[in-house]
Amino acid sequence: MNPYDFVRLPDRVVRESVLTHEMLRGRSGRIRCSLTAITPIFIPETQAGGGTQFITARYNGGDFPVIPGSSLKGVVRCVAEAVSQSCIGLSAQLFERGAVREEYRGAITKDFATCDVGERLCPACRLFGMVSRNSHFLGKVSFGEARTTPQDFKRGTTVTLKPLMEPKPRHSAFYLPTGKVAGRKFYFHHVGALKTASQPTTFTKTLTPLEGLDQAGNPQTVLEFDVTFSNLTDYEYSLLLFSLILTDDMRHKVGGGKPLGLGTSRIEVTELWELDTTQRYRGLGARALDAGLGRVQTGTDLLSHLLKLTEPFISAPSPSVLDLQRIWRYPPAKSPTGEPVDYTYPDQKWFAENSSTPISGTP
Ligand SMILES: [Zn+2]
Repeated sequence: MNPYDFVRLPDRVVRESVLTHEMLRGRSGRIRCSLTAITPIFIPETQAGGGTQFITARYNGGDFPVIPGSSLKGVVRCVAEAVSQSCIGLSAQLFERGAVREEYRGAITKDFATCDVGERLCPACRLFGMVSRNSHFLGKVSFGEARTTPQDFKRGTTVTLKPLMEPKPRHSAFYLPTGKVAGRKFYFHHVGALKTASQPTTFTKTLTPLEGLDQAGNPQTVLEFDVTFSNLTDYEYSLLLFSLILTDDMRHKVGGGKPLGLGTSRIEVTELWELDTTQRYRGLGARALDAGLGRVQTGTDLLSHLLKLTEPFISAPSPSVLDLQRIWRYPPAKSPTGEPVDYTYPDQKWFAENSSTPISGTP
């Protein structure tokens, strides 16, 4: 089966004005999260994706692995975009200067182009920010770097991954089934060994990931990070929380090597501080947060808070949520014979012989 599939686009993009920072009427606070590697995970040293080593930074008196806040923000933003009526944040392939590119005319409306007017933003741009020729908005959520402790991570063995045989140029039976843009791309979770090559070639990538769960299912790599939010509406707060924790039977995919079995991760909220409404309405918002005031939630209180806020996405899921639930299901789906589904790109011969077969028809 092809290693990725698409989450359908919503019917339309809904843009609204942003509550400005000065007003401080919405929800503000801080969320502490843990990220547990389920399969091996890999974040390359350089932003361009280069390097064979997991990115590190100096803290706790040594060089330890980190996941940059920008990477975490990217992961969570992709979910928030996909499950809300949001624009396509990285849409250069489809749009140029706000208009649909020639080759996609009729396949998508220009409504889905990245927001470019700061006063009218989709939910994802309101949360995570946007930059355009005309304006920019910083966003109302910021992500700290994920760090670990010397006891909480394990470097894996160095592996040479199989070369990626992704169909290029864009294979229209996958990207434009029925003549419409299929949606947003997400990768399935794998079980079992990573897809490795017997020896390195110019097309392979060699890297040293951090380990996922051990044979007994115990975590070997856990990192921790903080998300700070300010002035969110109730809907934006729910969207952020759902995008962070998903449902019990879903996991995120983080970092490199997603089509080859890397990146399956579980994000959990471990502690949450929210500013007290009385503090907020006295206009003490920002100062109160700095001073560490506010209500802290942990344990069962936190759990019921999270369940209540993410409930709208779960009890009445949109088609997009259902698609993402299917693709990010964990444990992953099994084939009719009970074996784990083998997610791998079909070979060139298959593409040559099945040029109009949709993703669901891949072997
Ligand atoms: Zn937007």
